[in-house]
Amino acid sequence: MIGAVQPEMNLGLAGIGRAFTGEFQRVSLRAIRSAMFIDRDGTLIKDIGYIKNPDDVELIPHAANAVRRMNYALRPVIVVTNQSGIARGMLTEVDYERVRARVDDLLAERGAYIDAHYHCPHHPEYTGPCDCRKPRLGLFERAIHEHAIDAGSSLWVGNRWSDVEPALHYRARGVLVPSDETPGDEIERALREAEVAQTLTDVMHMILPG
Ligand SMILES: [Mg+2]
Ligand SMILES: [Zn+2]
Repeated sequence: MIGAVQPEMNLGLAGIGRAFTGEFQRVSLRAIRSAMFIDRDGTLIKDIGYIKNPDDVELIPHAANAVRRMNYALRPVIVVTNQSGIARGMLTEVDYERVRARVDDLLAERGAYIDAHYHCPHHPEYTGPCDCRKPRLGLFERAIHEHAIDAGSSLWVGNRWSDVEPALHYRARGVLVPSDETPGDEIERALREAEVAQTLTDVMHMILPG
C-alpha cells in the first residue's frame, strides 16, 4: 500500500487521498469473480509429454463441455501449467505459444473459451528455484490480481496433487481428476484433503447448481 502511494507524494495530501481511495475501490469492488483454475496437460488435453507440436493437441473428453459451462456461469477459466520442457530445452516459448493457440482453437470449435493461460517455463534442476512452478502460488497470485478473482470461492482442478494443493492455501475447493499419469498416493491424498472426480463433467455437477 505504501509503495503504491509513493508516486503520488508530490501531489500533496489530496493526491495521497486519491491513491488510497483507488486502492480500496479496486479491492472491494473488483475481487468478486469465482474462477476455475485448471491444469492443462492430462486435464484439458491428453498428456503426451512435453507437447511441442500443435498437431499433437487432443482435447480430453468432457473438457470443452466443462469450460463452456463455466463460461455460461460467467466464471473465469484460467489455465495454469508447468512447462518444464522449456527449461529442459525440449520446446521453446514459441512452441508453447503455438500449442496454446491450438488448445484455444479446439475449444472455440466447441464454443468454449479460456480467459487466460499462465505457464511456468522453469525447472529447479535447470533454471533454479522459481515462485511460479505449481504447487507454488506465483502464477495464481498474478491471475488473482489481473482478473479480479476471489480466491476463496474459486475452484482448483487438475490431474496432479500439485494442481489441487494451492486450493488449500486459499481455503478453496480443489478437485483432483485422475488421469493415467496420476500416482495412487496423490489420489489418496486428494480423497483425504480435497475431492476427487472421475471426469470434468462430474466436477461441474459438484459445483454448479442444476
Ligand atoms: Mg497435468
Ligand atoms: Zn517458474
